[in-house]
Amino acid sequence: MVIKPKIRGFVCITSHPAGCAAHVQEEIDYVAKQGALEGGPKRVLVVGSSTGYGLSSRIVTAFGFGADTLGVFFERPSSNGRPASAGWYNTAAFTAAAEAKGLYAGNINGDAFSQEIKDKTIATIREKLGQVDLVIYSLASPRRTDPVSGETYKSVLKPVGSSFAAKTLDTDKKIISEQTIEPANEQEIADTVKVMGGEDWVMWMDALSEAGVLAEGAATLAYSYIGPEVTHPIYRSGTIGKAKEHLENTAATLTAKGHPAWVAINKAVVTQASSAIPVVPLYVSLLFKIMKEKGLHEGCIEQMYRLFAEKYNNGQPETDEAKRIRLDDWEMKPEVQEAVKALWPTVTSENLEEISDFAGYQKDFLQLFGFGLDGVDYEADVEADVPMDA
Ligand code: NAD
Repeated sequence: MVIKPKIRGFVCITSHPAGCAAHVQEEIDYVAKQGALEGGPKRVLVVGSSTGYGLSSRIVTAFGFGADTLGVFFERPSSNGRPASAGWYNTAAFTAAAEAKGLYAGNINGDAFSQEIKDKTIATIREKLGQVDLVIYSLASPRRTDPVSGETYKSVLKPVGSSFAAKTLDTDKKIISEQTIEPANEQEIADTVKVMGGEDWVMWMDALSEAGVLAEGAATLAYSYIGPEVTHPIYRSGTIGKAKEHLENTAATLTAKGHPAWVAINKAVVTQASSAIPVVPLYVSLLFKIMKEKGLHEGCIEQMYRLFAEKYNNGQPETDEAKRIRLDDWEMKPEVQEAVKALWPTVTSENLEEISDFAGYQKDFLQLFGFGLDGVDYEADVEADVPMDA
């Protein structure tokens, strides 16, 4: 079939197998070009491995350190002629490339919050890897079912305390409007922390540790975001920020239990998760413009390569006073933030393309789903059903 993008709001409901494969290959080529990394983990579990930061982490550990990897994700295979989700195609392409290099690449598709998927992961580690040296926790999900109570919690993206009126960009219609978002109630705050905070990270580490599948000194990494003042009411001081604070504090809890745990504060990039957050796509479009002008631009793969090549330091990372690894150092440079802040009040629907890098935002967004990649014939018939053992 010929597959074209079908965008609905901030998601694209189709994805292209050859385009996703080309996107994954670009990331692999980037790592190969930077060169091999020394002394890192050789057996890595990535929870949330199919898209965004988790996928790039998997690519860097496999193609940089030469690690065997096991990936856990929640993706949809193709059915009834409908394309699979992008993360399915990404993982199929990653697996083929890793195996061609002689690396183990195992995949588990299912709900990472469930006990069943944790048990399946443990059994697979026992059988295929024995133990793992590093666990990367990179989930981004709008809901979570508590495996103990069976109750389902939904996260919300709302301010805390008072309403927030801000410019926001409808990325589909290219319209900037003023949007007022009402504050979350206590229940919504607690539910968001339940979904995106550190509780499930602890459950993973406890389960892996009790099963004896963590190697001596095995470490774990999770990802968070802080960002600038313009996004604070909706991000850092909002419901998601409360969850991220909880996740960051969880690192100390896990370290005290015997496995060094780190949170890396990553920069804002275009992913399926970030495109759903109000205000963020407009900020990202302005940020990309400035960072590209200053030669500081990075996407997921550049960030994850810099994490492992320069910051992680084989488990002895350089951190800030709160023991967080700061990969947002370039994003938060005063000259970058001052330039974004100066543009912020001036941006309108009319001058969006001129003063921001909305074109770059859109390109990245389409590429998440395998569209707009060089060298891919989008008029050609492709097989949507790409098999994968997961
Ligand atoms: P993403 O949407 O690209 O990836 C999310 C991953 O989680 C996918 O592999 C998906 O399959 C998996 N997943 C979601 N629900 C699942 C479930 N129930 N079971 C199993 N797998 C599930 O998101 P991302 O932006 O790469 O986010 C990853 C982490 O990075 C998050 O902690 C996010 O807050 C953080 N982060 C993102 C940004 C950004 O700008 N995108 C910036 C800083 C930090």
